[in-house]
This record gives sequence, structure tokens and C-alpha cells, in this order.
Amino acid sequence: MKKTKFTDSPYLKNEIFKTRFLADDLIAAATVICVALPLSLALALASGMDPMSGVITSVIGGIICGLLGGSKLSISGPANAMPILTATVIHQYGVGGLAVLILVCGALQITSGSFGFGRFIRFTPLPVIYGFTAGIGSLLFVNQLPRALGLPPPDQSYTINILMHVFGSIRTIQTQSLLIAILTILVFFLFPKLSKKVPSPLLAVLIPSFLVTILHIKTPIIGHLPSTLPLWNWPHLPTNNLGDFVSLIFVAFSLMSIETLLSSVGVEKVTHERSNPDKELIAQGIANLGSGLFGGLPITSVLARSVLNVEAGAKTRRSSVFHSLFLVFSILFLSPWMSQIPVAVLAGLILSVALRMLHPKEFIKLWKVSRSESFVGMLTFIAITFIGLISGIQAGLAAALVITAFRLGNTSAKIDIFGFSGLSHLSINGSLTFMSAATIEGIRRKLESESIQKGLIVDMSRVKEMDSSGAIQFLEVLDPNIQKRKVAFVGLSSKNKSIFLKLNYKVNLAGLIASNDNEVFKILDHSPEEKNLNRLRYGVERFKHIIGSEYGTLFIQLAQTQYPHTLFITCCDSRIDPNLITSTDPGELFVLRNIGNLIPQANGDCTPAEGAAIEFAIAVLGVKEVVICGHSECGAIKGFLSGEPMMPSEMEKVPHIVTWLKQLEELRPKLSSGCSVREAVEVNVIQQIENLKSYPIVREKLLQGHLRIHAWYYDIGETEVEEWNESERSFSPISPTPALG
Ligand code: ZN
Repeated sequence: MKKTKFTDSPYLKNEIFKTRFLADDLIAAATVICVALPLSLALALASGMDPMSGVITSVIGGIICGLLGGSKLSISGPANAMPILTATVIHQYGVGGLAVLILVCGALQITSGSFGFGRFIRFTPLPVIYGFTAGIGSLLFVNQLPRALGLPPPDQSYTINILMHVFGSIRTIQTQSLLIAILTILVFFLFPKLSKKVPSPLLAVLIPSFLVTILHIKTPIIGHLPSTLPLWNWPHLPTNNLGDFVSLIFVAFSLMSIETLLSSVGVEKVTHERSNPDKELIAQGIANLGSGLFGGLPITSVLARSVLNVEAGAKTRRSSVFHSLFLVFSILFLSPWMSQIPVAVLAGLILSVALRMLHPKEFIKLWKVSRSESFVGMLTFIAITFIGLISGIQAGLAAALVITAFRLGNTSAKIDIFGFSGLSHLSINGSLTFMSAATIEGIRRKLESESIQKGLIVDMSRVKEMDSSGAIQFLEVLDPNIQKRKVAFVGLSSKNKSIFLKLNYKVNLAGLIASNDNEVFKILDHSPEEKNLNRLRYGVERFKHIIGSEYGTLFIQLAQTQYPHTLFITCCDSRIDPNLITSTDPGELFVLRNIGNLIPQANGDCTPAEGAAIEFAIAVLGVKEVVICGHSECGAIKGFLSGEPMMPSEMEKVPHIVTWLKQLEELRPKLSSGCSVREAVEVNVIQQIENLKSYPIVREKLLQGHLRIHAWYYDIGETEVEEWNESERSFSPISPTPALG
């Protein structure tokens, strides 16, 4: 079984102070810095910052997020997604402006994590994330091209300008730089196919740098690197273009948070341990406050380095902290060597990372699943690449929203319309919102083909989503019939009803809303003689057109034979529906009904109808359960209790009722004087169990253990069914309402 232990069990907290797993964590940290060190340098260079600032970022991220983060084995530092944005900020607002941006983003992350928003950021649409990643990859690639080709930086950072700049200066390309960059890319991608023991980014830097040194190739190198930790970077709030700056902050915040949470999800897949997205955001926020103050870059959790950490055997949060300490060591002691790394090598490294971000396989997968989603992904990708990062993200999110809204508007809006004897029935299954133009147009067309003489019944019970603009458009389509008061709405949820009533429609809609099917015919003002028959016909049509189809193949199965499991004996009272109160389907209950749910003694002098039904159910159909169900306010019992159910003159007209109810006399000795209807109903159902046992087939099956008999009491007003408990000698609810609190 996979472990789904929560990240912060006490076991893990104490673990970092123990020697257990110490070697694993040290080895993992050493492996991770082989990637983190070269990438930190390269990403800082690509951001337009001093290469050492990338290392500082990794140190701060590794310590703070490692100790406080919600994802135990994640590694944080400068992210592949950020250099373009960082470069834009530095270009427009300087290093001081970048510090302000990072500090504000950190504060926003702490706030959103504290309010529990981390869980929501995880719901960023997948195609948009694909578009972000691939788009940023292509921007990174294009932006690094001049550096990899040894060309001077272009005047503008738009993709088209850079490409024109590259083509314009094609004759001045430095062949050495180009070859070094290509070699770096080849090592980056091909070495993992030979061996996975040494991280390829390290070799992609070491091998070309070594060749450049021994072959004395003349190519620009990083140059002097400070071998001390920078201490403080004064934030400088920009004064110009503050509006743009604010929108940059929000894009940076979104990118940083999404990148972090995506990385956490990726790590979860490898470790099978849940992370805490809110805790992770708060830790990232704190780390970014540190990075902003100490001259670093925006920090995020980074998927590739995190997965490497896990795969290299990291066991506790220590490995992230060790990775930071190793980086401090490298700043202090390795900077003379690091300063010799050729710029083209770091450019080649970024080109490799950028290529990896393009993920064409992901796009093909998306295309196969959904054309509209792959369109959103493609749009985001193209917009980011050719228009710019911010507009690209905005375009992608807008497209995702439009497609979502469009889908909501069209969710299976099935329009059913059928006519019978001048009446028409319309039912909508789906949504009626501002996006439902197509649905409403469909309704209009369907209505045009119907001739509505006696009225239109609009069944709204399957309208899942409705807003006021959807409702108004819908009512406009129905308006000619509404004006003639030939429309009755039924099945409106209380929410949809209140939308209808708040619309202030030109006709008072309250008078057109029926609370049940029967009321529909009062609203449509049919004459009493046709009302009842129309009600029945309407029910049959509705069953045939709509309800019947919801049972799938049930009726086809039932067409041949029946296998009911229960004999259900209850009163004829119209307020009882055995299938409804037990939520059972046709074919499950064999129902025996008579006035007062009475079972005549097997050897008595009543008609054989009841006995025949009982014998057929038990002996022929083989039912295993018998339910005898009495009910509240039973007319038969009330009449019996009042002594004289009817006037003597009326009794002559109903001799059968008189004979039938004589059976109740056997209850008389068991009832206290002045007992309630409920008590009498209960005594009656228990008495009927005894009567049932007078049938030989019942006794035989009971003896064999093939039959059980249950006495129920159904309270109509409370919709509660109670069951007789023989050992406790009392009735109690089958499904008790849970006590509050
Ligand atoms: Zn009754």
C-alpha cells in the first residue's frame, strides 16, 4: 500500500536531528547542487543579474523552504519560468524595483497561504499551464540565442526583434560560441542516455568548460565573481509606470505560486506523500522576503531539482538545507573556478532547459483529449512567444474562461417537447444562462413547430443552472403564450423560482408557477370535466417521453417476468405510494392494498382476494420479506374508533364497507379507552402479523426461516417510516433524523 502520510508527522520533525538517513541526505544534496549550481548561475545571467545572485537565491530558498515548506523533499531556488519576467522588471525598474516586486510577491504568498488559497491555485486550467511552460520555454530559447551565438544583445526583447537581430547579424556570429553552446546542449540531452549517475547539467557545464580551457579557445567567460555573500539590497519603489508595475507584480505572483504548487504536485507523484499547499506558499513567501532583501531572484519550488533530490535518495528536509550549505561553500571557495565558465556554456544550458520546457508530447496528448483545450494551450503559447509574457498569460486565461463559460452554457441542454390533445409539454435538461443563446434558439424553433391550443406545461425540474439573463431570454421566447396565460411552469427549484419572481416581468409570473403537476391544470384553467383526464393523459405522456427513458433497460428486463423481493401490504389511501416511500423501482414490490391494510383470517368468511395474493407472493413468487404498513390518520381506523363510521342510512348504501370493517372488531379488547388513532393503527398492524400467520404457507416459510414479517407505521406529514421492534415492544424510525450538533 502506498503511504499517504501527512508531511508533518512528529516522526519527520524529529528526524532532522537524528543521524539516521544522514548519509542519504548528504548524497542527495551533493547530487542536487550539481544541477542547482550551474542553473543558478545561468538563470541569473538570463535574468540580467549578477550570476552570484542566482546562487544566493538557491541558498535562501533551500534553507527557508526546506525547513518550513509544506512539501518535505522539494528544492526551491531560481525558477526556469522567471528569467524573462525578471529581465523585464530590471530593464524597466532597475534592481531596486525587482527587490520591491519580490518583497510584495512574498507578502502576497504569505497572505494567500494564510487564507488557504493554495488549494485553489492548484486548479489553474491544465492547458493554460501547458501554454505557460511551453511559451516561457520558447521565450527563454529566443532570448538566449544572441548570447549563445556570441552576438551583442538586441535593442528590444520582443521575439520578432530578437529573431530579426539574429538574422541581421548572421555574418558576425562567433563560431566558437555556437559550437560551445551546441556541445553543451548535446551533453545535456545525450548524457542521460548513457548514464544517470551524474546529473547531466553538471557535465554539460564541466565538459565544454574543460575543453575551452585545455584548447585555449577564446570566448567570453563569466568573469570576476565575488567570493562573499551580498548583504543587503535596498528596495527602490518605482515612481514611473506604477500601473504596469502592479500588473507585473500580479503576473509574477501567479507564476511563482503556480510553479511552486505544480512542483509540489510533481513531488507528490514521486514520493506518494501529500503536501500542504498553503504551508508551502507561506514558506515560499518568507523565502522571497529574504531573497528580496539580499539581492536574490524570485524563489519558487523547482520540479526538476526536487525530483532529482528524491531520486538521489533524500529522506528528510535536511537535504535541502545541506544543498544550501554546499552552495555557500562553493561561493566562498569555488568562485575563482566558476568565474572561468564560458558565457556560451551557460547560454547552452538555458537553451537546453528551454527546449525541455516545450513539451510537444504534452501538447499532442492534450490535442487527443480535447480540441478546445489544446486551442487554449496553443493560444497561450503563441501569445506568450510573439506578443509577450503578460499578454500571453492574459490571453490564455481569457480563452480558458470563455471556453468554460461556453461549456456551462451548453451543458447537455436537452429540449423535450411533445403535444397531446392540444396541450404541449416542454422540458429543459441543462442550463439557462447568459451563455445559453443556442439552447434558447433551439427552444424557439421547437415551439414554432408546435401548435399550442390548450396550454404549454414547462417542466423546469432539470434546469441545473439559471441566471437572470438566461431567464429573461427564455421568457421572451415564451412570451406570446404567457400573454395569453397559456403557460404553466412546474418543477422550479426555490432558487430558480426566486430568480423568476425578482425579474419584475411584465406579466405576474407567480400566478403561472405550479408547485406540483396537479396544480398545472388549475393554472391552465381547464374545465373540471376535462381537468382530471388531461392530468392523467399528461402523466402518461410524460412517463412515456421522459420518465420511462430514465429507467434505461429496466422495462425491457421486466417485460418477460417479475422477481419481487417483498410483499408490501398497505392501505388503499391515496397518500401512500409504496415505491415512492421505499425508493424502489417497478418490479421490486408485490403490492396488496385494501382499506385499513387488513389480512382476513385464513379460515374466515371474507372474500379470497387477500389470501390469493398472499399465497401467490409467497408460494409462487417466493418473496422473502412481508411488510404490513399502516399509516397516520387512517380513515378506516378513525371510523372504527368513533364507533359509528357513518349515518345508519348511509350504511345501507355501502354494505361491503360495513362487512369489511367488521374485521377490526378483533382490535377492541386490545385498545384502551380513548386511545389515539396512532395507537390503534399500531395495534392494527401488529394484529395483522398474527392474522398473516394463520395461513399455512406463511407458517411453513417462517419455520424454514425463508420469510420475515415487518410491521411499519408511515407518518405522512413527517415522511417518516417507523418499524415495530418485537424485543423492545415499540416503534422506532427506520432512518432516524440525526440529532443536531
Ligand atoms: Zn388507511
